[in-house]
Amino acid sequence: MARFDVVLRGGTVFDGSGAPGVPADVALAGERIAAVGVVAERGSTEIDARGMAVAPGFIDVHSHDDFAVLLNPTMPFKVMQGVTTDVVGNCGSGVVPYEAAVRRFGRIHPGATPPEWTGFGQYLARVQEAGPSLNVAVLMGHGSLRAGAMGLEQRAPTPAEMDRMRAWVREGVEAGAVGLSTGLIYEPGRYARTEEIIALARELGARGGLYATHMRDEAGGLLDSVREAIRIGEEGGVPVQISHHKASGQSNWGKVRDSLRLIEEARARGLDVHADQYPYTAGSTSLYAVVQNGALRRDSPGGVGSLSGDAVLIASAPKHPAYEGRRLDELAAEWGSTSRRRPRA
Ligand SMILES: [Zn+2]
Repeated sequence: MARFDVVLRGGTVFDGSGAPGVPADVALAGERIAAVGVVAERGSTEIDARGMAVAPGFIDVHSHDDFAVLLNPTMPFKVMQGVTTDVVGNCGSGVVPYEAAVRRFGRIHPGATPPEWTGFGQYLARVQEAGPSLNVAVLMGHGSLRAGAMGLEQRAPTPAEMDRMRAWVREGVEAGAVGLSTGLIYEPGRYARTEEIIALARELGARGGLYATHMRDEAGGLLDSVREAIRIGEEGGVPVQISHHKASGQSNWGKVRDSLRLIEEARARGLDVHADQYPYTAGSTSLYAVVQNGALRRDSPGGVGSLSGDAVLIASAPKHPAYEGRRLDELAAEWGSTSRRRPRA
């Protein structure tokens, strides 16, 4: 009997530490890596990896797959890209309470009503039952908690509403959630003041949970938004993860030099602050958030920056599939509506 189940032979191994790749065989026994290097023994399955890169599974830190892992647990669109751990609950959109989650994720999965849960512990039990083909780490979405506690009210929470949100966070920490997320350009997260978020971040306690944020303004107000995120981490006593760091809107390009400097200064003071970034220049969000933040106005006041209709591509419109793949300015022309075009140089 072969000592190894699988041997990946002759690939270039990138071990995830950032070190340069090295030529090596990788042997698997059951679900474990059993040997790396020159593997003499044959495996029950031999895979010729010559000319290919061999790496540990990727962690997708920003997935919005909260419902997908239940509805489509084989997750081929992730595992076929090498993703073996999915973080869900980003940008303030989380799974608790259930009704708020169904409203949010219904936009991505129209009509989906997965079996109900009452808290993060039960959601994680549902994930366990569904048995997705990747690992799932859960962030608690502040926007969903706030919607559950006080609807879309544009004010500070009452003490009772605050207690309700705090209790959800405590339950999530107990159940194994890895942190709290906000989406401060979105409704209703945008109505929360910094102090509200600090109070919830404090509930994460010493268990290692982090604060992940889609910041209040990734455009003209980028630097103030980074300062707010750092303050929440500092006063809440938690590590900070700035999601999809960028300077949004052409007039703001280049501001990342200053925002990265703020992050570096915070780190130099001993704070644990990180940022992630996607490897392309387009952003993606709900069209309602683009409109709500005034992005189609030339003097955009909001967190998305100023966009012209020809810069907005409809990627997904479950109720209007004919719009998918089309630009907003084309649709506006068909409807006899106006659309501001980017001035041509
Ligand atoms: Zn986001």
